[in-house]
Amino acid sequence: MIVRAVSYRDPNVRMNDWKEVMEESKPAQLLKTQSARCMDCGTPFCHQENSGCPLGNKIPEFNELVYQNRWREALDRLLETNNFPEFTGRVCPAPCEGSCVLGIIENPVSIKSIECSIIDKAFEEGWMVPRPPLRRSGKRVAVVGSGPAGLAAADQLNRMGHFVTVFERADRIGGLMMYGVPNMKADKVDIVQRRVNLMAKEGVNFVVNANVGKDSSYSLERLREENDALVLAVGATKPRDLPVPGRELSGVHFAMEFLHANTKSLLDSNLQDGNYISAQGKKVVVIGGGDTGTDCIGTSIRHGCSSVINLELLPEPPKTRAPGNPWPQWPRIFRVDYGHQEAAAKFGKDPRSYEVLTKRFVGDENGSVKGLEVVRVHWEKDASGKFQFKEVEGSEEIIEADIVLLAMGFLGPESTVADKLGLERDNRSNLKAEYGRFATSVDGVFAAGDCRRGQSLVVWAISEGRQAASQVDKYLTSEEKDVTVSPSGQDGQDDFIKREQDSSKFTVIKT
Ligand SMILES: Cc1cc2nc3c(=O)[nH]c(=O)nc-3n(C[C@H](O)[C@H](O)[C@H](O)COP(=O)(O)OP(=O)(O)OC[C@H]3O[C@@H](n4cnc5c(N)ncnc54)[C@H](O)[C@@H]3O)c2cc1C
Ligand code: SF4
Repeated sequence: MIVRAVSYRDPNVRMNDWKEVMEESKPAQLLKTQSARCMDCGTPFCHQENSGCPLGNKIPEFNELVYQNRWREALDRLLETNNFPEFTGRVCPAPCEGSCVLGIIENPVSIKSIECSIIDKAFEEGWMVPRPPLRRSGKRVAVVGSGPAGLAAADQLNRMGHFVTVFERADRIGGLMMYGVPNMKADKVDIVQRRVNLMAKEGVNFVVNANVGKDSSYSLERLREENDALVLAVGATKPRDLPVPGRELSGVHFAMEFLHANTKSLLDSNLQDGNYISAQGKKVVVIGGGDTGTDCIGTSIRHGCSSVINLELLPEPPKTRAPGNPWPQWPRIFRVDYGHQEAAAKFGKDPRSYEVLTKRFVGDENGSVKGLEVVRVHWEKDASGKFQFKEVEGSEEIIEADIVLLAMGFLGPESTVADKLGLERDNRSNLKAEYGRFATSVDGVFAAGDCRRGQSLVVWAISEGRQAASQVDKYLTSEEKDVTVSPSGQDGQDDFIKREQDSSKFTVIKT
């Protein structure tokens, strides 16, 4: 068996802390072995957007450079295509590895670990220093939303010399990289805030506690008036609900209510302020899988829950690729993520139960949830060839629960910004902006990331942010616009930021 270059810490140890699950040290010899395994294929699939890396990372090139111990050059190659490899190196599901040619016959090259090692080494060695643009264009861009899409767009536009301000309604910058993905997957201070600080030193301005379109100080009219273009990167934040009887019972929460409050309390007070939903000593049921479900499991375990069950409506994926899912497609197979591993270590078995439908929540006399009535289902193809489920008669049962977390995905962006700007939506209620152009139906307004493509991945958000930035740059430089700032691009805007910063915890560093 091939040893992976970077492994996770022992689940029995890591479940007792909030530190990253990834081993801190990355053994040099294992990285060498992994990079040596890269075959430098004539036609690599790993770096192609449609089969592998959505960013087009130049994987065989940086693998070879790492193998030759030329880390600095490997970094340069990596940064050509990826603004935040320290994010993707931690949380990306690595579609590149799914399309690695070596993966046809054995384990793929550990590309993600190599990527992560390059950028971690770069920070350790002090190679990641602020590189503000040498010249300012005098054009201003407002980015709404500070997730990976907004940050990537801001980073690119700032490098192009435009003057960028990122507006975020939360009290910290980072979007789901800050308040969705938990600390054990990507450290909020050492990884996310470190990058935000670097960008601030490079000249990007950040405004937190700024709910654009809702707070009167951050009206869309004002943002449009004061900027030459607007990038919307507001995410897909509308959660899918489960409108069955008993939904109103206390103890039934959306996953993001649970995860956001936990990370905020962890960062504010190391969970001492009590401003989070505690799973300590409670029976937890998580409905829905994916990253969000896993993160709810890992967080509940760290609180000290007494049990955790994860219900999935869909059937269990196959252990190996199904015939309809050939290489180089992303393998849709059964995977054991960190939360599942930890649940197995703590409670002796994988927490997942497949093909289960929730019929209703059961409450006690105080209006608190105490269980769920569920029924087993069976999936089969109907006459038109579409998969449908049927309930299995007599399989109803009650599962006890003190907390139920709904992790069933997201239904696109909230409507405020779109409605106020009069933006067209697509048939999935996402902001309508053609992929490749990223322009919405309103002149000078662009959209990128989950709010445009629907709930997706960090790597796609970065990719869309980069591409949208390039379209914004074309828009700004192809038109003569009235510029309201001085040639340095700083005056006026600094004043604006100073006025708006007030109580925020985030320090804006100005160049
Ligand atoms: C719990 C969870 C775990 C995940 N784990 C992974 C993972 O392991 N790997 C992976 O690749 N992907 C993961 N994802 C998906 C990934 O986080 C998203 O695809 C990605 O963050 C989308 O980036 P974005 O910039 O488009 O939006 P977001 O990250 O959602 O950021 C949007 C930001 O816009 C802000 N905003 C919204 N409206 C306004 C407004 N009116 N004014 C100001 N600000 C506003 C929001 O507060 C938010 O901060 C996970 C998602 C969740 C929910
Ligand atoms: S960003 Fe994701 S897909 Fe691209 S090289 Fe890194 S791990 Fe692979």
